Order: sequence, then C-alpha cells, then structure tokens
Amino acid sequence: MTATFDTFFKELESRLGAGAINRSEETLVRYGENTMPGGNRRPAGVVYPSSTAEVQIVVRAANAHGVPLYPISTGNNIGLGSRSASTPGLVIVDLGHKMNRILEIDERLAYAVVEPGVSYQTMYDELVRRGNKLMLDVTSGPPQGGMLGNALDKGAGYTPYFDHFGFSCGMEVVLGNGAILRTGDGSLDHEKLVNWHTSKYSFGPILDGLFTQSNFGIVTRMGVWLLPRPPAIQSFHFAFPDDDDLEEIIELCRPLKLSNFVPTLFRVANDLYLTGSEGESPEYSSGRAISAAARHALREKFGVGAWTVSGAFYGPSAAAIEPQIQRVHDHFCKSGKARYISHEEAGKIPPLQVAINAFSGIPSLGELGLLKWRPGGGNIWFTPGTPMDGKIANEFQHLCRKIYADHGLDYTVMNVCGPRFARGLHVITFNRENEDERKRADACYRAMSKEFAARGVFVGRAPLDYHDLHFGQTMAPFREACSAIKHALDPKGVIAPGRYGIN
Ligand SMILES: Cc1cc2nc3c(=O)[nH]c(=O)nc-3n(C[C@H](O)[C@H](O)[C@H](O)COP(=O)(O)OP(=O)(O)OC[C@H]3O[C@@H](n4cnc5c(N)ncnc54)[C@H](O)[C@@H]3O)c2cc1C
Repeated sequence: MTATFDTFFKELESRLGAGAINRSEETLVRYGENTMPGGNRRPAGVVYPSSTAEVQIVVRAANAHGVPLYPISTGNNIGLGSRSASTPGLVIVDLGHKMNRILEIDERLAYAVVEPGVSYQTMYDELVRRGNKLMLDVTSGPPQGGMLGNALDKGAGYTPYFDHFGFSCGMEVVLGNGAILRTGDGSLDHEKLVNWHTSKYSFGPILDGLFTQSNFGIVTRMGVWLLPRPPAIQSFHFAFPDDDDLEEIIELCRPLKLSNFVPTLFRVANDLYLTGSEGESPEYSSGRAISAAARHALREKFGVGAWTVSGAFYGPSAAAIEPQIQRVHDHFCKSGKARYISHEEAGKIPPLQVAINAFSGIPSLGELGLLKWRPGGGNIWFTPGTPMDGKIANEFQHLCRKIYADHGLDYTVMNVCGPRFARGLHVITFNRENEDERKRADACYRAMSKEFAARGVFVGRAPLDYHDLHFGQTMAPFREACSAIKHALDPKGVIAPGRYGIN
C-alpha cells in the first residue's frame, strides 16, 4: 500500500511540481483535525492543484495507483467534519489553496463565477471594493468558509437567497474517471457559453444536485447568484420568556413567510444559542446540563428571551420600512408575551448583531464563540427539521431538550424558519478531552437521530461520524441508486469513498 502511495506522489510531483504536495507531519496533523467525538483522521498527504486540468491529473493518477482522494474547498466545515476525510489514510485534495479566484462578476445580471477557494469574506470584500452594489448571502459560520463547498454541502444563509445550492447556477465537475462535465446550459458542446450561469433549467436532466452531499465528482467552478444590495436594511427582534412559547412563535412566523411579507428567513434562537457565543458556560460541569436559574441569569444579562425571533426588511430607506416593522410588531406583540427589540437596540447586543450581519450579507465571526461554551473543542451539528406547525415544533423541542439533559449536555438550538418548514440547527458542544463526555455527546447525537427517524424526520446535513448511520436510515432503492451512480461516474471509487455513506 505504501509503495502505491509513494508512486502516486512521485508521479504528481513530476507533473505538478514539488509545491503541489505536502506530507509534512504538521500538515498531516492539521488536515486530520476535526471536532467530532470519533477522533481525528490523519490523511496520507495533501495535494494542491491549481487548475481544472491539474485536478484531472490528480484524479487520473489516483485511478492508476488505486489511491483514494478527499476533495475540500476551504475546509471550514466545522462541526460537520472540518477539513478531515471520512476515514484516515486518504489524500486530501485542497482545492481552495490555489484555486481561489473569482472568475467573473457580472454586475448587471448579478451573478459571480467562483473557484472552490473563494470564501464569503473574499467575495464580500470584492463586492465592497466594487462599490457595494451587490450583496451575497452569507452563513453565520466561519467567514473563511467557501461559497462552493458550502453550496455542495447544502449549506444555507438567511436572506432571500438563503438556499446556497438553489441559488447556484452551472457547475464544472471533474468526474471520478477524470472526464470534465459541465452542468445546465454548460452541457452545450460549444466553446463560448452564454447562459451557463444564468439559466438553471436547461436541456436534459438536472445533474447539479448529484454533486451535493455525495462523492461522484470534484467541482472546480460554480456560478452563484447575487442580490442587488438594498439601500436600507432594518431588522426586528422579539424576545419570548418561556420555552413553550415556541409553539406560538412558529404559528406567528408561518403566515408572514407564506405570504412572503417578510423577505428573510426567521432566526428563532433559544437562550443558549445566543448567549452561548458570548463566553464559557458559567456552570460547566461535565455530567450535568446548565440549570434553569443560570439560563435565566444569562437571558437577563444579554437582554434576550428563552426564544428570540429575528428577521429583517429591505427597502429604499429606514423610514419607508417603518410601517412594515409596525405591522410585525403588532403581529408578534398581540398575545402580550413578546418584548420588542428594535434594530438599534439589537445592534448593541452582540449575538443579535450576528443576525443583523447575516441578514445584511456581512460575514462575521461572532457565532464561532459557541465552540467555546464548554472546554475541549468538541462540536457536532444535529440538523433535523419541523413542519411550520407550532405543536409539532414544540413536541420536538421537548424531545431534544430531554435527550440533551439525559446526557448531561446543554440544549442549544436555532430554528431557521421558512414558510412550511424550519431547519433545527442543534449544536452539541462538548469537552472532547473528557472521555466520558465525548461518549455522551456521541450517544446524544445517536439517540436524537433514532428518535427523529422513528417519527419520520430526517437530517439536512450529516457530521462525518454519522454518514454511515444516516445512509443506513435510507430506503434500499435510494442506497442502490447512489451506488449505481457512484460506479458509473467513479468506477474505481477514488473520490471520497464512504462520504455520506456512499461506496
Ligand atoms: C458557529 C457556526 C455557525 C455555522 N453557521 C452556518 C450557517 O449559518 N450556515 C451553514 O450552511 N453552515 C454553517 N456552519 C457550518 C460550516 O462551518 C459552514 O457550512 C462552512 O461554510 C462549510 O465549510 P466550507 O464552506 O469551507 O466547505 P468545505 O469544508 O470546503 O466543504 C464541505 C464538504 O463538501 C465537500 N466538498 C467541498 N468542496 C468540494 C468540491 N469542490 N468538490 C466535491 N466535494 C467538495 C467535502 O466533502 C467537504 O468536506 C456553521 C458552523 C459553525 C461552527
């Protein structure tokens, strides 16, 4: 096996140059790191291609020598796997290291074309440099996360362009056999393509989706749609005092999204999701969840609720938006439970400023504080969803709150609400250096996955340690279809074997 890797790396060194390969101890340790309970996964080496042609060379060499690859774009998939591969011993293909160019920005048609290494921060800075006429949808996660990698993992933001895969248009992909595929309008066999990054639904089947949460190819280029930056953005926030107010909140949010009156998604965050980014748990104890009294004190300290709802309006001026703010104010405050927090007031509360940034397409670091809520750097995302039905959402809250508490962990969640569905972004922060706590975090994730699947609810994204678990929860024809596609597009199985359970 070692000999195969050595000849693979020798071939790449001669074709791409010594600078395209890194097998130093420090690099192998760094690329294997993640925040999962299952431990780090040390790779066999790291390769840095600088073009699509070089990606083809890497894939063909991997086929020739039977070497498994693991592509990453910027590798900021924190809480889902970071930059580490499904298993140890793979070769990380770090695309973003050299392929980090913005290939095009069309200001009139409001789209950009990016290579894998273009981060939210890079795109934001470039749009500001060009006069801030266009806005991108960002995550509230790491600003160095990439637009392409995030879209491929079905990541999302909070503006009307929140659906990062949905608002991508046209990909270039190196398949597992080394061939180049262009999706959408790009499938036309012609040198000069006019509508590749403006028309999503062109001739034939929509193949783009095959490259999300899979291992069928390496995406080397993608179009992303941008919004014209609105002259004014005014956020609004409502703090509710009780855990069970979630039922009322979901019922209040639904009509405002179904009618599209509110253009952003609603961020419905619990107390710990907001205050947890502002410092360590005041009551950290490995085996016990934080007390109700300590949660209450944190709410008082930061001026947030048991649940806090955030959204925003866009318009020509703050004054023009005022009547819309008044309408949501009356809507949320009619039962007498909600406390209104204005845009100006929220700007002084750091976790609500994170929400304002997210609605404004401005990358920010604030939410990363959640990683430090408990010591030891452990972090997993559990991402089921609920229909926009207050009763069901509240039942799911009770279920998860109990499972977190049973495992001595702190229930931390944000429901991101659209018209019909809300994604429940559950953060499990745990001390990875404490063996017992690490095991409980793992057991907590597994217990919630089991309970939700038993209720007919699936996750939206899977952390590395649980790809096989969730793949095993799918129906047999789904698994068979995935394997058949894998064998057709990557016959030797060189790209990210086992990712999302697919082999
Ligand atoms: C506090 C916090 C808040 C967060 N908030 C959000 C949020 O609001 N929204 C959100 O979506 N996420 C969020 N995240 C999760 C995550 O950090 C981001 O989604 C991040 O953008 C993903 O990393 P990336 O963009 O660098 O992608 P990468 O790590 O580069 O890619 C993700 C995965 O996709 C595959 N892949 C990447 N590039 C390619 C390619 N070119 N070809 C084939 N396969 C590829 C790889 O398997 C890779 O592991 C948050 C995380 C934290 C810790």
